[in-house]
Amino acid sequence: MKPLIEGLQIAIDGPAGSGKGTMASQLAAALGLPVLDTGLLYRFAAWQCLQQAVAVDDEYAVLNVLEKALPRMQWRSEGVFFDAKDCTSTLRGEDVGLAASKVAALPAVRRLLLDVQQQLAKQGCVMDGRDIGTVVLPQAHVKFFLTASLRERARRRWLQLDEQQRRQRSMDDLVKDMTARDTRDSKRQHAPLQRANDAIVIDSTTMRPDEVLDRMLRVLQRRGLAH
Ligand code: C5P
Repeated sequence: MKPLIEGLQIAIDGPAGSGKGTMASQLAAALGLPVLDTGLLYRFAAWQCLQQAVAVDDEYAVLNVLEKALPRMQWRSEGVFFDAKDCTSTLRGEDVGLAASKVAALPAVRRLLLDVQQQLAKQGCVMDGRDIGTVVLPQAHVKFFLTASLRERARRRWLQLDEQQRRQRSMDDLVKDMTARDTRDSKRQHAPLQRANDAIVIDSTTMRPDEVLDRMLRVLQRRGLAH
């Protein structure tokens, strides 16, 4: 399938484990567009702070760390590179994710990263996160909001863990972590996780990825955005 307009922007938002990442990659591949995972930016900020033992709720200190680190970072479809080294798999760890949701509540950090996201999105992309349809790309051509039950989202995360991680974390731990993250993401004052009024909601609890993709592609076709 091909996009019918240049610079097509597709926003995908939703809570942790809702399938945003998987669907964003598959949709981008189907359309030949870059995919941009904005969660990686917050994860990168958190990872830098953890490495430098900077408190993730100290806005001034976090901003300072991020301002120094950003020029050494590259964010692209393949992931995040720091000093040209791929650090994406490190960033995907659960601990980094939890810390990221703390860093993401800081308005100054969000402001700094907003510009990075909007600049890269100009080329056209599928972008996934929490506030893409509401704040980052309110003018996106299509917005999807993905959801799934808490138990199913935790199950998906658990399947992504390796042997060693599974020994350290039970399903109940994951449900607890995810609930904490969901609450922080939805209740924060700045750019909370929220469905845009014009977003199409897809509950993927009982759907396979190919079924979700099919639904998304049909929306694009119906709107005359791809054929
Ligand atoms: O999507 P992912 O789990 O990688 O995101 C990590 C954290 O980054 C989220 O829990 C959320 O707090 C934050 N985030 C955000 N806004 C985005 C993307 C991620 O606040 N657009």
